Amino acid sequence: MDQFQALKETLQKTAPNLELRQAEPMSQHTTFCIGGPVPLMALPQTEEEAITAVRAASALGLEPFFLGNGSNLLVADEGADVFVIKTASLNGLSCEEENITAGSGVLLSQLANFALEHSLDGLEFVQGIPGSVGGAITMNAGAYNGEMAQVVQETAYVDKNGMTGTLTGAEHDFSYRHSTFSDENRLILHSRMHLKKDDPAMIKTLMDNLAGRRRFKQPLEFHSAGSTFKRPKNYYAGALIDECHLKGLTVGNAQVSIKHAGFIVNLGGATCKDVLALANLVRETVLRDAKVELELEIKTLGVKA
Ligand SMILES: Cc1cc2nc3c(=O)[nH]c(=O)nc-3n(C[C@H](O)[C@H](O)[C@H](O)COP(=O)(O)OP(=O)(O)OC[C@H]3O[C@@H](n4cnc5c(N)ncnc54)[C@H](O)[C@@H]3O)c2cc1C
Repeated sequence: MDQFQALKETLQKTAPNLELRQAEPMSQHTTFCIGGPVPLMALPQTEEEAITAVRAASALGLEPFFLGNGSNLLVADEGADVFVIKTASLNGLSCEEENITAGSGVLLSQLANFALEHSLDGLEFVQGIPGSVGGAITMNAGAYNGEMAQVVQETAYVDKNGMTGTLTGAEHDFSYRHSTFSDENRLILHSRMHLKKDDPAMIKTLMDNLAGRRRFKQPLEFHSAGSTFKRPKNYYAGALIDECHLKGLTVGNAQVSIKHAGFIVNLGGATCKDVLALANLVRETVLRDAKVELELEIKTLGVKA
């Protein structure tokens, strides 16, 4: 019996209500709509189920991959030989005075709307980022001068060995599109964010304004994983790529967006190979012509170096 089958059988006994899927295509779980199957995926409804899943995997020597909304993720066409825990149903939300506590699977759009309902200012910038709270903390997601680092107070997690713990502000080690969760494989369970009471009309105006700017600038009509590359120091990746005349460059069905050169988009049926080949071409050209090195912002799964 392989390890994934053994894990499935263990989990069916220890967490009988936990939803498990075998040979699950990752193209259905990524905004790029790209990626082959993983042998086993768990979709916990509760933190207890998530912790049980991590512990059972650990006991079998398996290191799980933690999946949020798959909006910053490129998965190999062949898939990946890994146990995936998808957090979508860890979606609790509560508010106490100026603090919101959100499950890691809460979508950022829900979070922004919840903050608005409670007249809390500070999360307008997440409106339109198609990620989950867990993914946004891992990536220190940000836009329009806001980033998760500004609001996150405390995060509860379970590490890959099944030990639970809590991190407070500075312990997150936030920096540009990075947190300690980018380096260490720990499953974020929920997080508390501190915001400020403000006029809901002003919050709503700012949210609408930022959403409008996003619609105007970003190729939202195509599947993508957002910005392909991190912003290099003193530059904007999109502007550099544009200056190197790479807008519209296509490999297979992957294209450097004509609307926003910072995005690689899936024109329909693009493969992981197409995206990686195109990203490499862009990196080589920008390095040669602009003498700037671009680093992937998108995370990969199952991609062999
Ligand atoms: C159209 C579009 C626009 C975008 N705009 C922006 C933007 O303005 N700013 C920005 O920063 N990003 C942007 N992104 C990228 C992406 O939405 C963010 O990085 C988002 O925070 C990723 O969240 P996710 O839940 O989809 O994470 P995933 O893609 O599922 O995962 C990303 C990483 O986080 C880890 N992870 C996810 N959940 C957990 C968890 N619970 N515990 C531990 N690790 C976890 C994964 O293992 C992976 O390493 C955009 C993407 C798209 C498609």
